[in-house]
Amino acid sequence: MSQEQITTGKIIKVAGPLVVANGLDEAQMYEVVRVGIEKIVGEVIRIKGNDVYIQVYEETSGIGPGEPVYLTGNPLTVELGPGLIANIYDGIQRSLKDLAEKSGQFIARGIESSALEIEKKWNFIPLKKEGDEVEVGDILGEVKETELLNHKVMAPPFFKKGKIISIAKKGDYTIKEIIAEIRDENNKKLEVCLSHKWPIRNARPISKKLTPDLGLITGQRVIDMFFPIAKGGAGCVPGPFGSGKTVVQHQLAKWSDADVIIFVGCGERGNEMTDLLMEFPELKDPKTGRPLMERTVLVANTSNMPVAAREASVYTGITIAEYFRDMGYSVVLLADSTSRWAEALREISGRLEEMPGDEGYPAYLGSRTAAFYERAGYAQCLGQDKREGFLTVVGAVSPPGGDLSEPVTQNTLRVTKVFWALDASLAYKRHFPAINWLNSYSLYEDNLKDFFDKQGGVNFTDLRKRAMAILQKEAELQEIVRLVGIEALSQKDQFLLEIARIIREDFLHQNAFIDVDSFTSLKKQYLMIKIIVDIFTKGEEAILQGKLAKDILTASLKEKVSKMKFVKEEDLEQFVLLNKEIEQIS
Ligand code: ADP
Repeated sequence: MSQEQITTGKIIKVAGPLVVANGLDEAQMYEVVRVGIEKIVGEVIRIKGNDVYIQVYEETSGIGPGEPVYLTGNPLTVELGPGLIANIYDGIQRSLKDLAEKSGQFIARGIESSALEIEKKWNFIPLKKEGDEVEVGDILGEVKETELLNHKVMAPPFFKKGKIISIAKKGDYTIKEIIAEIRDENNKKLEVCLSHKWPIRNARPISKKLTPDLGLITGQRVIDMFFPIAKGGAGCVPGPFGSGKTVVQHQLAKWSDADVIIFVGCGERGNEMTDLLMEFPELKDPKTGRPLMERTVLVANTSNMPVAAREASVYTGITIAEYFRDMGYSVVLLADSTSRWAEALREISGRLEEMPGDEGYPAYLGSRTAAFYERAGYAQCLGQDKREGFLTVVGAVSPPGGDLSEPVTQNTLRVTKVFWALDASLAYKRHFPAINWLNSYSLYEDNLKDFFDKQGGVNFTDLRKRAMAILQKEAELQEIVRLVGIEALSQKDQFLLEIARIIREDFLHQNAFIDVDSFTSLKKQYLMIKIIVDIFTKGEEAILQGKLAKDILTASLKEKVSKMKFVKEEDLEQFVLLNKEIEQIS
């Protein structure tokens, strides 16, 4: 944030995170200001006559009327460049480590913190040369940021076309050193450093949005098989306490087919955030065994940080995510929980005395939520190479009392196309992941049909439909069983109930803490579900011929099926024997 202070006004009122000032005639909406003697960070969110309303990102106690307010002329920005990865930031991109070093455990006010290390040198490898014609977004060079990530240094989005007049040789540079000079079409010289700033409330530009038709493989069977999310898609996961929300998010962070993970921890209770800050750095990238942090950025706000910082944190996170997408990476942003973000909106709106909408949330909750999720997408990035990047967004919501009809969940569901309904009662029964297969949905299924039929196996989508139909029929039959007992059911229905149990226990149950079970490749998922559906098809025929359900599903067959998930990825040919056995059912 620039310290260039232009005009000075005066505080006339302080109400929690909201400060009203006057004497700031040149103030612009969303301009960053410095408030009070301590110069804490704030942002203009409303201008009414002479009154300028400022949301403040730090504690305002002790600050009072008469104190100065300085305009900076800049919007709220994030700094983008090498050094983002493995960092842990607060909602306005101050590095928590840096803040702790400067002010100890309790963050003092008005602390300046650079988002990226200023003195650190990065080894830059140029990929363009003097005289090359370049366009916005073109990759000028690379920096190996961590073992797991090559940071692409792009021509920043501040010009259209130009010619490189100089470019740095391979060597070590800080983020502020000029590594290239470009002369644009208007003969203006643009100096490019390894880092640049971008306003968090504006989506970063792309060339065009593409239809999300590639699946984001997560290795989580209930997700990939039944409720898949597209790369560049948006999903919502409600997480009542204890329902396995954290585990689901960790699993997505570890196993999703993503190059970069951005985790926005938005104002959960303080201790939960501590857990996150302790646990995340411990996670290992399963593919390489290296720390997952080598391709992760954390944005963390505890609820004891001011609400305004929570409001900003999702934008900080998504802007960083867009930046890595622009490099042509697959990025997954996990936001937990967007309910806390919405509560921050509600609180600020209340202080502004705006007309409240549903349950006190501002009327613009819906449009703000939509604007956030719309920043997800499958994009053709800027740049002549027409590379493609993905930004998948998964937002957790924590509906009070698990009531999904509340405004935050409803507004989220309106814009996200995937809904993984975490269910406390399933968690209570230790059915993990506790994603309810009857309430959840994915609206990407049609778009992803070709992808799954090709990548998963022949008729993958049909198998998915048949397995889901069995689960749905089970729910119907269970009603009858409750009323009149299982004996009243036909052999065919009793058999279906057994198959449904197999789908639930041997396919949907997936233990995140057992290595062989934690991730299942698409191929293995396909083979597993195919075996179960084949048993069902063959078995139904046999029952029509007069056979009993229990004679088809022998103890030995059941045992073999229950062990499928423990077959290692490299031993999948073992399934052939099982297939042969199923062919014998008659
Ligand atoms: P929440 O974040 O919703 O409060 P957690 O994610 O911490 O809940 O999950 C609570 C507990 O449930 C975990 O400590 C773990 O024992 C169990 N659990 C959740 N998901 C799984 C899973 N996929 N496999 C095994 N155990 C799980």
